Amino acid sequence: MKLVQRDTFGWGPSAAGPAKPRQGLVIHYDGSNQGLAGKPHTACIAYWKNTRKFHMGSNRGWADIGYSFGCCPHGHVFEGRGLDRVQAAQPGGNSTWYSCTLMSGPGEDPTTVQINAVRELRAWLMSKGVGQGVKGHRDFFSTSCPGDRLYALVRNGTFAGSPSTGSPSKEDDVSAEDVWTGKIKVPYASPDKPEWQAATVLTNHGVWLRKLSGQIDALNAQVGAQNVTIKALADALAARDSAVNVDALIGRIRSEIESVTVRLDVTSEASPPA
Ligand SMILES: [Zn+2]
Ligand SMILES: [Zn+2]
Repeated sequence: MKLVQRDTFGWGPSAAGPAKPRQGLVIHYDGSNQGLAGKPHTACIAYWKNTRKFHMGSNRGWADIGYSFGCCPHGHVFEGRGLDRVQAAQPGGNSTWYSCTLMSGPGEDPTTVQINAVRELRAWLMSKGVGQGVKGHRDFFSTSCPGDRLYALVRNGTFAGSPSTGSPSKEDDVSAEDVWTGKIKVPYASPDKPEWQAATVLTNHGVWLRKLSGQIDALNAQVGAQNVTIKALADALAARDSAVNVDALIGRIRSEIESVTVRLDVTSEASPPA
């Protein structure tokens, strides 16, 4: 479990009163969409700090952030009031259940690692003697919280699953082969070729490189031939043989050079191989 402890933010021990929650974990959300899944984790840290500021400010006036914990879309578990504290989260269960917000709104689904973070938190609490229950805020109080999407996951047991350990589970593993064979689609960010996949681009680069290599060989042959003819011209001039028709000789050299000229054509590869 990637636990972000409250002393990371310079918050001392929670001023909230003591409690021994033993029933389980209650899931919460934010009333409005936060978009944290699409933002860097630093946005979650800012969100967590702002939430505490709001809960302790004149609007609420609470002793601390209301929740025991928070789980962010990047899979971190934030310590709020933490263990053994009464909460300001679910009236009717503030001292008997622990609380966890998913920092999201009604239009947002939790990420896979976020669900796993909730499972890790629950398993950790259970290792400390807390019961296995998982409820939603609305089970205690008439509220939209934790939203229909999260509440459905509360009801179907998603949050009560076993956490995956260590590296991502097998079905989440992405190998280079998956990308190369197109099994996993990785769109190539080209406005004029939106259908191109990474594998297509890589294959094309291979084709282009081989073609370019052939053209370089041809160019080397051309330069070699030119050297031979130029040498012949120099020899002829050096001999100052009056019998040599210089114009005819140059004409011959030009035709020799033209016969081995290769047209460079590296820009015509516009479409991917079939
Ligand atoms: Zn709630
Ligand atoms: Zn995060």
